[in-house]
Amino acid sequence: MHELSIAEAIVAIASRHARGRRIYRVELKVGHLRQVVPSALEFAFELLTDGTALEGAELVIEDVPARGHCHACGAETTMRDFPLRCAACGGIDVEVVAGEELEVDALELEERAEMTIGGMANGG
Ligand SMILES: [Zn+2]
Repeated sequence: MHELSIAEAIVAIASRHARGRRIYRVELKVGHLRQVVPSALEFAFELLTDGTALEGAELVIEDVPARGHCHACGAETTMRDFPLRCAACGGIDVEVVAGEELEVDALELEERAEMTIGGMANGG
């Protein structure tokens, strides 16, 4: 399952940036050509984040349309279906310029009011 490995990568990146803080929201940019199924990705994300600093975090998936530069007519158009074709002339000699993204775009983290230095310093 392709979405599970993507979710693993997202969790790894987010955890690295969070450095122990809680994560409330993860925004992703996912290119259309990645053919990610959002519901499958959300499911995998929930599974993997259970019991971690990301538990309950909202996953926001932004679908980036596929865009191609046509070598035949020079147009740059948005391509929605496979096989990929230039929307201007219908040619298939297109170079993909967008739509292969797979990246963590933004994280919303807990604001940490105090830094804990030297471990358990809480008086009870
Ligand atoms: Zn064209």
